[in-house]
Amino acid sequence: MSEKILVVEDEPSLQETLVYNLTRQGYTVDTAGDGLAAIETARRNHPDLIVLDIMLPKMDGFEVCRILRQEMRTPILMLTARDDEIDRVIGLEMGADDYLTKPFSMREFLARVKAQLRRVRMMREEIDGPGGANSLHFGNLVLDLTRRELLVDDKPVALKPKEFDLLHFLARHRGQVLSRDLILERVWGWEFSGGSRTVDVHVRWLREKIEADPAAPRRIVTVRGAGYRFEG
Ligand code: CA
Repeated sequence: MSEKILVVEDEPSLQETLVYNLTRQGYTVDTAGDGLAAIETARRNHPDLIVLDIMLPKMDGFEVCRILRQEMRTPILMLTARDDEIDRVIGLEMGADDYLTKPFSMREFLARVKAQLRRVRMMREEIDGPGGANSLHFGNLVLDLTRRELLVDDKPVALKPKEFDLLHFLARHRGQVLSRDLILERVWGWEFSGGSRTVDVHVRWLREKIEADPAAPRRIVTVRGAGYRFEG
C-alpha cells in the first residue's frame, strides 16, 4: 500500500507541481486549498505526512498545525515564503517536523518527504518491534514509550512531540556523545546541515522539564564541540 500524503497549498500552480511529483514517486496524494479543508481532510483520510503551507485562506498553517498536533502524530512539513527565524521557531513550537523555504527544488522537497516518512517508519518499528521495552526508567524519570508520556516523580509532564522524540533518542543512547547533526537526522529526519540550533532549542526546553537545575544540567550534558550526552 502506498503512503498517503496530504498537500495543503492554496497556490494552484505549486499545488499541481507538488502533486505531480509526489504521484510520480508512487505516493497517494490528497489536496486542500485552505486551512479548514486541511483539517477536515486530515481527520477523514489519516495521511502519513502533511505538507503544509503557512499563508493560507481561512486559517493559517500555524493554527492548522496546532490543532492537528492535538489529534495526531502525523509528521508535518511546513512550507514558508519567508526565510524567517521567527516563523521557524513558531512552527517548531506548534509541532512542525520540518521546514522548507520557498522557492525550493523538487529534488530537495522529495528528499525531505522521504526522510520524514522513513523516520516515522523507524520510530514505529522501534516502539512496536518484538522485545522492545515499553518504558525507560532513569531515577525519578520514566519515559512511557507506548503512551508517549514522560513521568517525573510519578507525575505526567507535558512534552511536545519533538521533545519526546529527542528525549527518547538521547535516552536510548545513554552515555554516548551524540552530535547535533546525528540528532537532527535521527529525530527530525533532516539530511541537511544548518538546522542544528533546532536541537539546542529543544534541549533547552527539555532541561527545563527534567533537570533539577536547568542552568546546571546533569541529565542532558553539553559536550563542548561535540554535542550532547544523556547521563540518565
Ligand atoms: Ca500560500
